[in-house]
Amino acid sequence: MLKRYDLLNAVEAQGVRLTAQRRALIETIQEAKSHLDAASLLELARKRDPKIDRATVYRTLELLKRLGMIDELDLMHLNGEKHYYEVKTQKDHLHLACFNCGEIEEFTSPTFERLKREIADKNEFDIKVMRLEVGGLCKRCAARKPVLQ
Ligand SMILES: [Zn+2]
Ligand SMILES: [Zn+2]
Repeated sequence: MLKRYDLLNAVEAQGVRLTAQRRALIETIQEAKSHLDAASLLELARKRDPKIDRATVYRTLELLKRLGMIDELDLMHLNGEKHYYEVKTQKDHLHLACFNCGEIEEFTSPTFERLKREIADKNEFDIKVMRLEVGGLCKRCAARKPVLQ
């Protein structure tokens, strides 16, 4: 398991005052088991507080992005143009997206860390974020389906 930021503490440590609705939404994001889009987050958050609306979701996501506490992903656009959100992890990771069942697997590798260092060194570039998405068939789907060319 990857270690993730503790959002509520991290946000409050920045001096941001949170309304009850934003707090409920942040808890939803923190506890999400998978990478969720704004509409799914809204649906889940409303179970905690039915008054949460779309504007609150978008404003809170903007805030968390600005503070660098969540990542926004497109995950190979498996479902059109949606964006997905996840709490930032201490270590960058890759996402493997299955075109067939939509499963997203997370992967870390020392090779990825080495590649990051190489990019940073050779370009004298201070990398803040590096994303790599891989699309294909997961193990289960690959066993069932003829491989796409
Ligand atoms: Zn699959
Ligand atoms: Zn992830």
